[in-house]
Formats: sequence, C-alpha cells, structure tokens
Amino acid sequence: MQIHEMGVKATVQALKERQLSCKEVTEHYLKRSEKLNPNLNAIVCANEDVLVQAEALDQKKDKDGILFGAPIAIKDLFCTKGIKSTACSNILNNFVPPYTATCVSRLQNEGALILSKTNMDEFAMGSSNEVSLFGACKNPWDQTRVPGGSSGGSAAAVSAGLAPAALGSDTGGSIRQPASFCGVVGVKPTYGSVSRYGMIAFASSLDQAGPMANSVEDCALLLEAMIAKDSKDATNAPRKVGPLINLQIPSIKGRRLGLPKQYFEGELSEGVHSAIDKIIDLLKKEGAELVEIDLPHTSFAVPVYYLVATSEASSNLSRYDGIRYGLRVEKDDEGLPVKDLHEFYSITRSKGFGEEVQRRILLGTFSLSSGYFDQFYLKACQVRRKIYCDFQEAFKNCDALLAPVATHTAFRLGEKISDPMAMYYNDVYTTAASLSGLPAMSLPIGLDQQNLPIGLQIMSPPFQEDKMLELALKIEELASFKEKPNVW
Ligand code: GLN
Repeated sequence: MQIHEMGVKATVQALKERQLSCKEVTEHYLKRSEKLNPNLNAIVCANEDVLVQAEALDQKKDKDGILFGAPIAIKDLFCTKGIKSTACSNILNNFVPPYTATCVSRLQNEGALILSKTNMDEFAMGSSNEVSLFGACKNPWDQTRVPGGSSGGSAAAVSAGLAPAALGSDTGGSIRQPASFCGVVGVKPTYGSVSRYGMIAFASSLDQAGPMANSVEDCALLLEAMIAKDSKDATNAPRKVGPLINLQIPSIKGRRLGLPKQYFEGELSEGVHSAIDKIIDLLKKEGAELVEIDLPHTSFAVPVYYLVATSEASSNLSRYDGIRYGLRVEKDDEGLPVKDLHEFYSITRSKGFGEEVQRRILLGTFSLSSGYFDQFYLKACQVRRKIYCDFQEAFKNCDALLAPVATHTAFRLGEKISDPMAMYYNDVYTTAASLSGLPAMSLPIGLDQQNLPIGLQIMSPPFQEDKMLELALKIEELASFKEKPNVW
C-alpha cells in the first residue's frame, strides 16, 4: 500500500511504531503535489519548513499526540505563523501572520505538521473555487469540472492524495459541498465548538472550521484535536461534545432517522436521488425507522443566508482599508497620487477585492443601511429563528436527518460563473444547517452516471458530533464507497 492510501490513523500508527519516518511520509506528499498540483491547482502555498519540522519529529523520543507526524493541508483562510495566509484575495496577497489560528495550533499540539495552504474562493465566498487570486482549482475526478467551494482546494487535495487530511471552513456549505463534489468526507461542527480565533472572518455568526479526509474515522480524529474551549473567541462554547476517538459502529435497529421532505423536491437530480434511496433501503434492512420530516421554512434559507452572510461580511471586511494592514494603493491608474482619503480607500479596495467580494460588500452594506435595516437584515434574522425552530421540532421526532448535499454532482468550470443566482442556489441544502448552528457533514455514497461522486448529508442536534459520526461510520460501512479518481 502506498503512503497516500493509508489515511491519517494508519499513518500515525506506523509512525509511532517506527515503520515509517515523518520525513518519508512528508516527502511522499510533497512529491505527489509536485506532480499533480500544476494541473489541479489545489495548493497555493507550501510550508517551506515542513521537511525540517518532520525531521525534528523523527528525532523526538516520545511520539505523543493523536496526529503525530500527520502532514495536514490547511485552507488559506487560516492564519499560520510565518506562512502566507491570503484568503486567496489580492488585498491580503502579502500577509504573513504573526500568529497561528487556534484550531491549527491544536492540530500541531497533537503532533500534526502544516503541509501546505489550499486554494479557495476569495474570502470563502463561492461554491466553485473559481474566484481565487490564484485561479480556479480543478476537480480530480474530472478536470473540466469544479471541485466545489469555497474549500475546493482542501477537498481536491484530499481527494487526489496530496494530503491525508485538510482543514476547511463552512459558512453556508463550504466544507460539505466540495467534500460531496470530490468524494471525500467533510464535517462542519456545531457553531461554537471550534474556535474561530485566527480564521479570517467572512460571516462571524456562521463561520466554522472543520476537517476533510478520506474516512469518517480520520475526520473524527482531527475534530477531536480541534474541539476545545478557547478564551480568545467569545462565541466559543465549553466542550460539550463527547470523545471522538475510538467511536464504534452502532446498531441502528429502531433508530429514527428523518428525511426532510423539502430536500427531496424540486431540482434534485435523478442520480443523487437514487443514490440516497439505495442507502435508505440499506438502513431500513438494518432495522432503522425512516420518518418523513417537515421543515416548512426551508425555502427561505438561501435568501436569509445571503442577507445575513453579506451583512456580516460588509462589516468584517471594512477592516481592509489600506491603512491598518493589507494591500495599499496610493496611485491611480495614470500613476498620479490619490487626491484624498476617500479616493485612497476606493482605489485600494477596488484593486484588492474581486468582483464577487465587492458584490457582497455592496449587498450587505445596503441591507444594513438605515431605512433598509428593518426590511432586510432584521427580517432575515427573524426568519433565521424560524428555520432554527423547524429543526428543534424535527429533532423531537428523529435522531438525525439525512438529505442530499447538493442537487447535482460537480458542474463544469465556467458553467455558473456569470450567473450569481444560479451559484447561490447551489447552497439550497446546506445553508439551513449553517443558519441553525447544527453539526452537519457530507459522506460519499456512490457515483452518478458520469462517474462523479455523490455526497449524503447528515445533520444532527447541536453538540452531537459523536452520535453523528457514529451514524456516519455505519453508513460508510453500508455504502462501501471505495472508488478513487484516476489521479489516485
Ligand atoms: N457557497 C456559500 C457562499 O458563497 C457558502 C460559502 C461558505 O460556506 N464559506 O457564501
């Protein structure tokens, strides 16, 4: 078996038993990146010191830590001390943070190495990883298609075996949708369970960091390391999630699993629908009880999300003003010095932000402005509460919800780029869980007729990651999805 086929857990074990060295493992992934990344564009920046760090680990007598020696790819949204962290935006093009995001340093505390930084949609705003300072990332299953977004680089890197696992972030679906498009497992934890400190902010009431890997067990291992109380993030909850290592495949006899009916109507493609139906049949055979669930406010999730997320983004991104840090443009296109402060802001921000980010800043500023606040932002917050209450009702009746992640499998590069509304509606099945702060994940369950991976979404009550991941282990076993892209 080759190193990239081993996954995190087996690699760590082999390193602890000295069957492999950290240097060997890291070199293997670096070589694969060298060969495959020029086409895929999943990785945007390497950690220059990773081999030295791997060698230092090899010298250590105690091989402690649940991630000992595992090289992990990190979405470029997370600050990494001494390594460029750009959010794939021109405005942060030269930003080298003086500190590391808490969730990344927690991985390091468990012995993980930062392997590289991965491509993403600028400031995590997108569903296709096409709007990035570094250009589009490609889907390893079909390089004419998108890997999904915004954590497309992380999903593609794991799917192509350029890293055994990666960190992503999910504001409205950015871990689950690319995981689904690339055939990997991706977990968005309960809002507040993983610290947001050092994660470049998009929409603070929604942003959550989470793991992506080739198995449920590997995701659980990373999440175990990441979940902890951090006083540097005021919205971070004390740890309420049970232990995530050594999870067992449960019996699901008599378990009530919900199928939200609104997620199976409308645009859902035949291929995705029938893959989920197959899993439902297998679950029934195992004695699970599948119940239909009504989530009446589902259709409001996308509009509410795009009001809340853009409003928060307009506020969060106001810090990039060319003065405090980030890009600074002091001359106009003719090379003449800017006339005043206003022109300085305007030129810096126009050159620093891409079109999609500018669109969202405008939208958010509009919905927060006096005169429109009640009509848009406040109304959106009220409907957000209703969406949350739908889930609360639902979980009185079932343990977890099963649903599609996206209506279709990966679409073609360029297909939706000029139609923002079509792009936004890609998030139709992922935004409701984000608005409600629920843990939710994507699990690969099969391929469609074009040989593209299909993800199943599992959503759980808050802080029940342990139960959600155990259920995922069971479904992973039933689905027995073993296919890999050709580049594997
Ligand atoms: N696709 C959604 C958006 O464009 C979600 C992004 C995310 O989760 N970061 O906002």
